[in-house]
Amino acid sequence: MKKDGIIASSTQLCAVIGNPVSHSLSPAIHNAGFNELGLDFVYLAFPVEDLKSALSGMRALKSFRGMSVTIPHKVEALQYVDEVAEVDRYIGSINTIINENGKLKAFGTDGPGALKALKDAGVTLEGANVLMLGAGGAARAIAFTLASETRLEGLTILDVNEAVLLGLADDLKNGTPARINAEVFGEDSLAQAMEKAHVIINCTPIGMHPHRDASLVPVRLFRTGQVVFDIIYNPLETKLLADARAHGLKTVSGVEMFINQAVLQFRHFTGEDAPIEVMRKVLMQNLGC
Ligand code: NAP
Repeated sequence: MKKDGIIASSTQLCAVIGNPVSHSLSPAIHNAGFNELGLDFVYLAFPVEDLKSALSGMRALKSFRGMSVTIPHKVEALQYVDEVAEVDRYIGSINTIINENGKLKAFGTDGPGALKALKDAGVTLEGANVLMLGAGGAARAIAFTLASETRLEGLTILDVNEAVLLGLADDLKNGTPARINAEVFGEDSLAQAMEKAHVIINCTPIGMHPHRDASLVPVRLFRTGQVVFDIIYNPLETKLLADARAHGLKTVSGVEMFINQAVLQFRHFTGEDAPIEVMRKVLMQNLGC
């Protein structure tokens, strides 16, 4: 909102849509960013069931500048927008929509947010063997981003759901130049993959609150020099990350991906660089840290 705190006819609207959205931290962090920079924007949360109508409403409302899209609309939204980035077509979901004078442009910031989290932590991806645990929605976004924007040595994906796993592996082989290896998750496949992995990324919900004592990786499989990234952000340090840190490994928390995907959205909404430290502080406060 503007420095004078006034909402006027010039004020641009941004919002998160989903169902439910009451838990969303996006209004708190985006509004903190708008306030910090004195931007003439506000950010609200709308629970939405009828996605098609919600998006035609956005198209008609010219001051409705930007939208964050969350569960369960990330896949269906592709049908009702005018432009989708090629990589996001392959991923098959989006989390951001920009309204350019009635034209809806959609893209995802989860994959780029994860990549930025790894780069900011100083992780080398060129020539690396990456092991991804999980092949669901977030894994798809991260896998496509890493496979198309970095020169990995190889990407191994393990998941208990064979259909989801093989679907992602086929799409990656068709849509990116990366070397893909997909195996059903099990004791042996995990042990083998851990022997070669330089970077391990947990994209499953295992270890998320309230199941804080769970981790997919037994500590005996860690090797010196590995980097462990858990995209879960509640808790900030999962058991997987705590175990890895106790073994002297570099760790990256999911909160870094979360803040980065929001920062990228902020830039698209406003054209301004986000005040990341202010947004991070509000996020941490909302997470009870
Ligand atoms: P999802 O679509 O449900 O994908 C999770 C995948 O992991 C599913 O294919 C699931 O298989 C698989 N899985 C479950 N248990 C497993 C196990 N024991 N071993 C191997 N694979 C297993 O979920 P998502 O939307 O990708 O989200 C995953 C996690 O990422 C959640 O904790 C979410 O909060 C977090 N996330 C964080 C951010 C961020 O910004 N930091 C962004 C998005 C998501 P089944 O379908 O058979 O269960």
